[in-house]
Amino acid sequence: MPKYDFKCNNCSEVFELSMSIKELEDKEADKKVCPKCNSREVKQLLSFASVGSSGSSSASSSRGSSSSGCG
Ligand SMILES: [Zn+2]
Repeated sequence: MPKYDFKCNNCSEVFELSMSIKELEDKEADKKVCPKCNSREVKQLLSFASVGSSGSSSASSSRGSSSSGCG
């Protein structure tokens, strides 16, 4: 089960919860609760997985049915 980072708007506590996508999108679910102050005023933090590695781009040009007007 994937984990998600949350931050409490009430006490600014940052915590981690593991839940399924369905539970994550379910606004009625009460899993998203701050473990510190039990506030439901929490927001999901964006996970920053990719670091470093910048610039490399591979352009694949496929030649084939591409007629360019000439003449
Ligand atoms: Zn809190």
